[in-house]
Amino acid sequence: MSPRPSAPLELLDLDSVLSEEERQIRAVVRQLIDDRVRPHVAGWYEQGRLPGRELAREFGKLGLLGMHLSGYGCAGASAVAYGLACLELEAGDSGIRSLVSVQGSLAMYAIWRYGSEEQKQRWLPAMAAGEAIGCFGLTEPDHGSDPASMATRARRDGDDWVLTGGKMWITNAPIAEVGVIWARTEDGVRGFAVPMDTPGVTVREIQHKMSLRASVTGEIVLDDVRLPADAQLPEAIGLKAPLSCLTEARHGIVWGALGAARDCLETALAYAGTRTQFGRPLAGFQLTQAKLADMTVELQKGYLLALHLGRLADAGRLRPEQVSVGKLNNVREALEIARQCRTILGANGISGEYPVMRHANNLESVLTYEGTSEIHQLVIGQKLTGLGAFA
Ligand SMILES: Cc1cc2nc3c(=O)[nH]c(=O)nc-3n(C[C@H](O)[C@H](O)[C@H](O)COP(=O)(O)OP(=O)(O)OC[C@H]3O[C@@H](n4cnc5c(N)ncnc54)[C@H](O)[C@@H]3O)c2cc1C
Repeated sequence: MSPRPSAPLELLDLDSVLSEEERQIRAVVRQLIDDRVRPHVAGWYEQGRLPGRELAREFGKLGLLGMHLSGYGCAGASAVAYGLACLELEAGDSGIRSLVSVQGSLAMYAIWRYGSEEQKQRWLPAMAAGEAIGCFGLTEPDHGSDPASMATRARRDGDDWVLTGGKMWITNAPIAEVGVIWARTEDGVRGFAVPMDTPGVTVREIQHKMSLRASVTGEIVLDDVRLPADAQLPEAIGLKAPLSCLTEARHGIVWGALGAARDCLETALAYAGTRTQFGRPLAGFQLTQAKLADMTVELQKGYLLALHLGRLADAGRLRPEQVSVGKLNNVREALEIARQCRTILGANGISGEYPVMRHANNLESVLTYEGTSEIHQLVIGQKLTGLGAFA
């Protein structure tokens, strides 16, 4: 008799290394995604829209927004618990995880880590509840991998700041109440908490995306945007401030990408078990089993890597280049898994009836944002050789 089939992440009994609380948080997020996202996400993707505000309020009620931060209405969960939540969110769709990552790890973290007490009180409780949406503007039309060359300027005018420039590819921008905007001043890069209804701020939603379609992305134009002195994040000095926010968000991606991969693999396993060709299920062919085995091995390696990085983060010892290892590997492997699963589904692999092509398309964005694969290779290369090849 054949043994009972095993789910890809059950094979190594990896659940045994999680705490009861971590397993509970994961179960709650998984249920939320099953109830609120899975039934609708293919339609959202096809229509290129996301009910972001509605979802943010629901995520806020469950404490998912800024969940790894403490105080100001945030849940104060561990980095591993946050990672597990990201995994389950992205098993629904990378766009859903992006909504939560940008809110919690980029916009909220920037204010939590670098903001004044007044800025924290003003924004964080509302953001944790999903009543206010945040975005994070670092990338510009002409400056992506090289943010040090940013062209957006902030100049002093009396006590005020005046911001001029533009930000491109900004997740959540079209629905955001507050933008954490990075700009060059006479003294170097500084961050600003910009209410998005400030005169001079305009946002154009980016259309025609073939990836992350269930995510809202915008271009922000800053035309002499006048801000009071207290809009500046007082503790954010230099480019290392936004880069530290990216390290936070990348940790979530290390986990999240595995969720997309797991969903593809589970779909392919189920499909291969029921689809018959040449008189037997696809799962019974050795070539299919080789694919399934290799993908499962990669998924579990990625999971162990994420868990290790998460435990380092919880011990306060996670370094940026370690996160680069995780982001580079897990997104690259997740994309490879999605593409391989696509082949197992044959023609159905390209159909929106199945999640695989959607995940594969989404992972193309995940490969690029939060530092492209090449930039993470260069970060790791710099650490290994002591030679900076890109900065
Ligand atoms: C859907 C989506 C959402 C996003 N959300 C946000 C957001 O919320 N906030 C935000 O600030 N940004 C966001 N981004 C932008 C993202 O971070 C950038 O796209 C990314 O940093 C890469 O920049 P770029 O697209 O300008 O590519 P470029 O920097 O022009 O790079 C193009 C190619 O050249 C390679 N390259 C560049 N420099 C080097 C080098 N020195 N050596 C070798 N290869 C190199 C890159 O790896 C890449 O393959 C988002 C992007 C997408 C697609």
